[in-house]
Amino acid sequence: MRSGPLTARQPFPEEAVRLATEAIRSGTLFGVGGPLTERFESEFAAFYGAGHAVTVSSGTAAIHTALAALDPDPGAEVVTAPITDAGSVVPILYQGCVPVFADVADHLGMDPAAVEACVTERTVAILAVHPFGGATDVRALRAIADRHGIALLEDCSQAHATRLHGEFLGRYGHIGIYSLQQSKHMTAGEGGVCVTDDDRLAEEMRLFRDKGWDRAGGGSRGYPRLGLNYRASELVAAVALPQLGTLEDVLARRRASAAILDAAVDEAPGVTRWAPPAGCDASYWCYPFFVPSGETARWAEALAAEGVPTTPGYIGEPIYSCMAALQEGGTFGTSRYPLDLGVDGRGDYPPDLCPRAREALTRLMIFWLHEDHTKDEVSEVATAIVKVANTFAS
Ligand SMILES: *Cc1c(COP(=O)(O)O)cnc(C)c1O
Repeated sequence: MRSGPLTARQPFPEEAVRLATEAIRSGTLFGVGGPLTERFESEFAAFYGAGHAVTVSSGTAAIHTALAALDPDPGAEVVTAPITDAGSVVPILYQGCVPVFADVADHLGMDPAAVEACVTERTVAILAVHPFGGATDVRALRAIADRHGIALLEDCSQAHATRLHGEFLGRYGHIGIYSLQQSKHMTAGEGGVCVTDDDRLAEEMRLFRDKGWDRAGGGSRGYPRLGLNYRASELVAAVALPQLGTLEDVLARRRASAAILDAAVDEAPGVTRWAPPAGCDASYWCYPFFVPSGETARWAEALAAEGVPTTPGYIGEPIYSCMAALQEGGTFGTSRYPLDLGVDGRGDYPPDLCPRAREALTRLMIFWLHEDHTKDEVSEVATAIVKVANTFAS
C-alpha cells in the first residue's frame, strides 16, 4: 500500500516557541510561582472547569502526587486497571500501598462490578484508567467510591478533553490526572497535571510536589509533609499552554481519522471495532482494533509490509504480568514491601487475575493515529487493513 514513513506528528505550535524563548530570555525557569506556570495552571483549571490545577514533572509524578495527597497508611489498597501504563502502578508501590487489579469490560475500561468486588475495608482509593481515549465508567465508580467513603482518582493520561455523558473525564473523581508526555494529546515532552475542586487536596498536592515545604511559612523553614521534588519548570508551561487552545481541534482531527478506519474495520473480515462505552466521545490517543485471537504478531508483520506500523497487543500482557516488581519481589531490596502487607491474596498477581484483560490483549492491535496524518494516509491505512483481512480470510 505504502512506502516511506507516515507524516510525523508536530504537536508544538509556534506560540510554544515564542513563550519558551521568552521564558529563557527572562533568566528564570523555576516553575513554582513562575508567571507561565501560574497562567498554565489557571487556564488548565478553567478549561476543565476545576477549582485547581497543579503542574508536576510527569504523569507518573501526577499520579503519585494525587495518591500521596490522600495520605494512605502503608498496606492500604488501591484498585486500578490491568490494561495501563506502568506509570499507574509504580506510584502505588512507592506510596507503600498494594495495587489491586479489577478486570476490564469489552471497551477495555474497568468493569464497575469487578471494581466493586475488589473494594475492602483496606481500600483507600480507586484509580480509574481511561484507556486509548475511551473511558472507564467513572459515573458508576464515583457512586461506588461515595458508597464506601473512598477516593476516586482518574488517570486521564490517554484521555485529554474526553467527555463521558457530556462531562470531561477527570471531573468525576476527586482528582483528575493528565500526563504531558510526548505521546499524549497535549505534550511538553514530559510533564503532568492534577485537577481538583478540593482546596485541601490541592494544597496537599502543592506541598508534595515541593518536598513538603510550606513556602508561605516564613521564619525557619517548615516541612509539614514528607514530599518529593516533582516540580515542573517554566518550559513545561510555555510549551503546553498554547496547546489548550488547539486541543479540541486535535481531537476533532483524530475522530475524523478514526471514523475512516472504523468504516474499513467494518468491512474487513475477522476484524472488529474497539468501541468506547456508550456516552463517551472518544479522543483516540491511538486507534485500537481487534483481530482474531493469537493473530496479532502476524497482523503486525503483514501491516508493516504494507507500510503501516502498528503495535500488536499494546502492552502484551496485563500490566501486573509485565512488571517484575509485582512478580519476583523486585520492589525494595530483598523485601516484598509493600506487597507483603497484602492480605487475603492481595499482593499476589497470578497470570489469570484478570482473564478478560489477558484475553483481549491477544486480539488487540494499536495503530498510532495522530492529528497530523493526512486524509490520504488514513485512507491508505484503512485500505491496508481491509487488504490484509481479505488475504488472511481467503
Ligand atoms: C502515559 C501514561 C502514564 C504515565 O505518564 P508519564 O508522563 O509517562 O509518567 C500513566 N498512565 C497512563 C494510562 C499513561 O498512558
